[in-house]
Amino acid sequence: MTLPAWMPALADAIYFIAAVLFIWGIKRMSSPRTARTGIVWAGVGMAAAILVTFFLPGMHNLGWMVGAVVVGVVVSWWVGRRVPMTAMPQMVAIFNGMGGGAAAAIGAVELIKFNAALLPGASAGATAHLSPVELALAYLGILIGAVSFTGSAIAFAKLQGWMDKRFIFPLQRWVNLAFFAAAVVCGGIALVAGIDGHAFAWGLLIAFVLLALVFGVAMTLPIGGADMPVVISMYNAFTGLAVAFEGFVLQNEAMIIAGMVVGAAGTLLTQLMAKAMNRSLTNVLFSNFGTGGGAAQQDISGALKPIDANDAAVMMAYAERVAIVPGYGMAVAQAQHKVWEFAKLLISRGVKVRFAIHPVAGRMPGHMNVLLAEAGVPYDLIEDMDDINPEFPNIDVALVIGANDVVNPVARTDKGSPIYGMPILDVSKARNVIVIKRGRGKGFAGIENALFYADNTRMLYGDGQAMAGELVAGLKTLDV
Ligand code: NDP
Repeated sequence: MTLPAWMPALADAIYFIAAVLFIWGIKRMSSPRTARTGIVWAGVGMAAAILVTFFLPGMHNLGWMVGAVVVGVVVSWWVGRRVPMTAMPQMVAIFNGMGGGAAAAIGAVELIKFNAALLPGASAGATAHLSPVELALAYLGILIGAVSFTGSAIAFAKLQGWMDKRFIFPLQRWVNLAFFAAAVVCGGIALVAGIDGHAFAWGLLIAFVLLALVFGVAMTLPIGGADMPVVISMYNAFTGLAVAFEGFVLQNEAMIIAGMVVGAAGTLLTQLMAKAMNRSLTNVLFSNFGTGGGAAQQDISGALKPIDANDAAVMMAYAERVAIVPGYGMAVAQAQHKVWEFAKLLISRGVKVRFAIHPVAGRMPGHMNVLLAEAGVPYDLIEDMDDINPEFPNIDVALVIGANDVVNPVARTDKGSPIYGMPILDVSKARNVIVIKRGRGKGFAGIENALFYADNTRMLYGDGQAMAGELVAGLKTLDV
């Protein structure tokens, strides 16, 4: 098919518009109010960029491209509609990993073409078209993309509960370092050979890719506890960078811009998540910190003291200040609407109610904010951890619903705990604490929670939505 001469200029213009839409979409995603339309705008930009790519000069294998797009759309549409909100991080992890894998594959294909053109007896039309910088970026993109691919797959398996969250063995750090060093050596030799105009041994490229894949697995295996949010956002940034690097190799502006936007957003999110966990990135990646976890259970004394919903409702009805602390369990129970109904009843009685949000509560950044916004909770009732923590000693009742790790005081006291050092909501400092959860289930980090055994804590056992409903009913039976 012969394309009109102005097609490349039109494609560039559409790539530019797509880039503006990506950035506009991300801007709108910064608030729950506008996030939905932000996703739509960014999606329109991506669809436009994909469509125009079909009309770039020199495109071939169009049938394969259409087939790949159709498979991708069908699978992601089906998964996206089925996956519950609570399983969103796994989905993000695996889709993100696919992006990294795709970028690595693009780099590998370009290197294969490059190498084939250098081999003696290469066909007359084959030219080694990559500059030294593009060659280096191709290798870097493969390394980062491959690590993101397998690392995200391991993160998926951990979040899905398919494998142990803290998989460690002796000398793990040295083994990981050896994989990384071997990958860099293989890639480095092939790169230098390519820059010098010599074909490299195929085995070297295969070893490089395999070692990068294995390194992604090895690097993610020991990370567990509550550090997963940091790891997921880091791989997000990796995928963005890998796509951008391979965009330079293909000289495709849309890939460069989309990759850079994802890389920058992922890097910022990684920093925010690491800050929320009070960890440096190196500490998350290399320390194997707090992998013991058992010590936390020995230090906890006291007993679990149940309370029924009516008594809990009465306690809060006559309180002056109540803080509601939601966590992953509220998302599982989809209790946000009932919780807000309960809060409104308290407010109508003159109780000062606030919602206390931990940055990593739930299973994705902003998870609790999204749920509360969906239920209609006004933003001025929602407080971040740093703002509400000094207030807890003045709170009469803290109602914890489905939160566990983010309110566990062992994060402050037990150096052997996987969450040691993570800032927590200081719920234990409230005058009274009521915890809604179904039983003795542990949180994501898999450790006991000292808060549940404290003298001022009462346990309201049951499903979050059912218990919030009983609290509402309990309040409604009160005369005054
Ligand atoms: P946790 O996962 O620590 O605890 C959730 C609690 O909810 C469980 O103890 C469970 O106890 C209870 N629960 C589960 N289902 C229900 C239900 N239907 N009704 C009532 N309670 C229920 O949640 P947190 O929000 O406190 O902590 C989040 C954790 O997830 C942190 O460790 C964080 O690092 C990690 N994480 C966060 C991500 C993020 O980006 N936010 C991403 C990945 C991990 P029981 O079974 O007894 O009911």
